[in-house]
Amino acid sequence: MFDLHLAEVADFIRVKGAHRVALQFPEGLKSQAMESADEIERLTGCVCIILGDPCYGACDLNVSYRAFADVLVHFGHSEIPSMAADDNVLFVEVRLEYDFIDLLPAALERLSPRVGLVTTVQHIHQLGMLKEWLERHGRTAVIGWGDKRVKNAGQVLGCNVTAASSIKDEVDQFLYLGSGDFHPLAVSLAAGKSVIVVDPLMREVRDVEQLKDKILRQRHGAIALASEARSFGIIISSKPGQQRRALADKLKATIIGKGRKAFLIVMDNVSPEQLMAFQIDAFVSTACPRLAMDDYLRYSKPMLTPIELEVALGARNWDDYIFDSFLG
Ligand code: SF4
Repeated sequence: MFDLHLAEVADFIRVKGAHRVALQFPEGLKSQAMESADEIERLTGCVCIILGDPCYGACDLNVSYRAFADVLVHFGHSEIPSMAADDNVLFVEVRLEYDFIDLLPAALERLSPRVGLVTTVQHIHQLGMLKEWLERHGRTAVIGWGDKRVKNAGQVLGCNVTAASSIKDEVDQFLYLGSGDFHPLAVSLAAGKSVIVVDPLMREVRDVEQLKDKILRQRHGAIALASEARSFGIIISSKPGQQRRALADKLKATIIGKGRKAFLIVMDNVSPEQLMAFQIDAFVSTACPRLAMDDYLRYSKPMLTPIELEVALGARNWDDYIFDSFLG
């Protein structure tokens, strides 16, 4: 169970004088939705409405709450500072308290003298402790600031690793504190440095080099398939923090300029089932970069990022391949 800071949530509701409160949870916290709604109603006397659609990031702020509620409480993610502020939305960052210090001696053996530290919001409070430990053990540990899409120093998102790229010339290597492979993979691809993962959940230290090679081979295969496509579907997300409409228009013009057909498709949640009906040879996602990278094997047609489309159409060399990102 995670600390969802419900006393702070109750204060926010009282200050706003809200009677109806929408609650948005990411998938990993939905099991706490009922208990949280009960407790918030008990503390404030308001009526809670749980937003049941999937939620993957602060980019996915469900603005439809305005039809049902006075305020929205969004759990689990830090706000994206570059997104338009809504004073009636409260972001409740959720921290994980898993211990990781006992994993550090194994990591130390694999670390270069100068290390950049990155993590997700769930572990951001532990970066200072990590830096202090590494410096006591003879390493220079650097924590960088990202752009306006990220709120905290050292924080990376799947779509934005500027906290790493801003310090890439000051360090030899990165240490990612957290779980999952996508974020360290994104750091490795964007910063061009190796990444050691200290994973408090899996209780292991690993690198992402093999995985990076495998993903790059997959991407190369997807690009090769898409290069033969006669028609492309360009996916535009309706999620407020994932919309790149101007980029989608530009991609459409580029595809047409190459003598192929291009169709703009607006979607909220993108899934293989929803795309199946479209008689289209390949897709390009201007939405969350994870769509093309993480879920690639689930789609029967190639799914590219905008950068990969350039490679498929011969407008960019494979050697200049870069990771798709949302900059703030
Ligand atoms: S666009 Fe994707 S990676 Fe970026 S914040 Fe949203 S869900 Fe996360």
